[in-house]
Amino acid sequence: MVNFFDKTLEELREHLAQCGKEKFRAQQIYRWVYQKGILDPEKMTNMSKDFRSQLLNLIEFKLPKISHIADSSDGTRKFLMDVDGGKTVESVLIPNGDRLTLCVSSEVGCAMGCRFCFTSKMGLMRRLLPFEIVGQFVNASANSPGGRKITNIVFMGMGEPLDNVANVRKAIEILHNQHGFGFPKRRITVSTSGIAPLIREVAEAGVRLAVSLNATTDEIRDKVMPINKKYPLTTLLDACREYASQTGDKVTFEYVLLKGVNDSRDDAHRIVRLTKNIPNKINLIPFNEHPDSGFHRPPAAEVLHFQRILMDAGRHVLIRKTMGRDIFAACGQLRSEMEKHPTRMAIQV
Ligand code: SAH
Ligand code: SF4
Repeated sequence: MVNFFDKTLEELREHLAQCGKEKFRAQQIYRWVYQKGILDPEKMTNMSKDFRSQLLNLIEFKLPKISHIADSSDGTRKFLMDVDGGKTVESVLIPNGDRLTLCVSSEVGCAMGCRFCFTSKMGLMRRLLPFEIVGQFVNASANSPGGRKITNIVFMGMGEPLDNVANVRKAIEILHNQHGFGFPKRRITVSTSGIAPLIREVAEAGVRLAVSLNATTDEIRDKVMPINKKYPLTTLLDACREYASQTGDKVTFEYVLLKGVNDSRDDAHRIVRLTKNIPNKINLIPFNEHPDSGFHRPPAAEVLHFQRILMDAGRHVLIRKTMGRDIFAACGQLRSEMEKHPTRMAIQV
């Protein structure tokens, strides 16, 4: 049976046509589900009774089941969703001023093996299907604190989105469709560990790009992010430059600060050099510690000093404050905080 949440509007039209039904019904169903929140065909009252009862045999409306919701004292709400037989993924809603950002997962686990990352420990168990990505949004929207609207989506949960790029792109198309949520592409960010040749797909999809830089020399990056052996820094940064010139957008560089590994002053100066010809923003992420990782978060003063070097070079730099620590939101679900005066910055350490 075809799952509604897996299908772009065009695919749904084709499916209905193949079943001998009128194509324009697809648009009506999209509206009922995504705009009115009605998943029961019996309640789709602008369609004949006959058609509605047939629909039950043509399409199912299956979403991942929410198995757990945890609220943090800082306003973060974390969801665990069952994707099948005991496998779960997490999604996190992060309020920040006017914004409500949903951090979604693209895979169960991850194959990329980044040494500092909690998700990498489980390896790749499965790539998510489009309905499981769209479903994270539908479920989180229906359960957002105070019924607030989600304003931004970031692919920064579990998994490497470009390792599952076809399904990620399909999910983006479904969320963006004007007869459905009409979610603006400019408010969707795909974060990659650096699968350089696939970065053009982010440009083609029309969404924003974030790249987890996390080191400034190939020697260190090879060690913390194995993908670097395949696509070293020059290759990765070339792809970023191309993205920026193709789209006219800035690239967001994420940089997880690991004490004694990539947090020296030389590193800060090297970031400036490496990213020189690429319109960019930089997000510094003090490492979110987890047991047995072997890595540590640098002291707050060091983080501020690192930021200061980048700011003095004219860079737009945010320090992302760890959110949801009390609910163990471990996959880098962190809040951006603009801070022009680093000495007044309060970081949770
Ligand atoms: N796979 C993608 C997106 C998911 S990871 C990627 O790697 O970009 C999202 C972000 O969380 C990445 O920037 C990653 O470097 C960061 N991250 C992973 N583990 C972390 C940890 N323990 N503390 C802080 N950031 C972490
Ligand atoms: Fe995968 Fe991203 Fe974690 Fe690396 S940091 S293992 S790419 S989820």
